[in-house]
Amino acid sequence: MSDWQRHSENLIRSLAPEDFGSSPVYIVGKSEAGELYRDFHAYAFTTHGLDLLLKPVLIQSKRWRGRGGAVVVHDELLQKRDGRDFGPALQGVLLHEASHLISDIGVVSDPVIPESLPEIREGIAAAVSTPTDKRIPPTYWHNLKWLRCLLHLYWRALFCGHEVTLESLGIPFIPRNYPEMACILAGHVEQEATEKQHIPLSEILANPGPIELDALWIGYILPFCEGASHGYRYEEERKCHPG
Ligand SMILES: [Zn+2]
Repeated sequence: MSDWQRHSENLIRSLAPEDFGSSPVYIVGKSEAGELYRDFHAYAFTTHGLDLLLKPVLIQSKRWRGRGGAVVVHDELLQKRDGRDFGPALQGVLLHEASHLISDIGVVSDPVIPESLPEIREGIAAAVSTPTDKRIPPTYWHNLKWLRCLLHLYWRALFCGHEVTLESLGIPFIPRNYPEMACILAGHVEQEATEKQHIPLSEILANPGPIELDALWIGYILPFCEGASHGYRYEEERKCHPG
């Protein structure tokens, strides 16, 4: 395992120690992830059952320690962008994917059964080998729970002295002409993140969040993404972002 992979695992584990517990977190480079990910264009991705799909690779490299969260990182793309040590972009990408693991996939209890793996494999191949389907609003894969979790991870990273930027988080619904939106979103979670930085994220997410964040989600982000108001068409606005 490379140093960047070890650092990556340590980073996300340190920000949510209770959520990851003792279960493994596999950070796999695109270059070692095999044929399925050859045309992979996003900075990173994760999905249900990814640990099982990567199991042969993980066994071969003597890393398999049972079921756990898994993330494939496009190491070549990130190195091209940020140089050999990856720089801060990798941290943002990892926080983005860690939020998927914690808020949606379930780090310890991903319920995927081996029988559904062929279908998942096909879904990944379709998703990573073609540009993102712009007819699907970004809120389809990135819901309010994911956003709240991500912003908690962002604040925790800052509290620990990491130099992660809002831009590197790849929040897919920040309008290009309104980048301050990321700052406003983060601001709405700052107090909760400060007060609850030592509480498991799963516990935090099980309870209602900041009302300002809810209000922005319902009143602005959903209409923006669905093109229902504000005159926006998100497909013209959105930027390339991690998967
Ligand atoms: Zn994502």
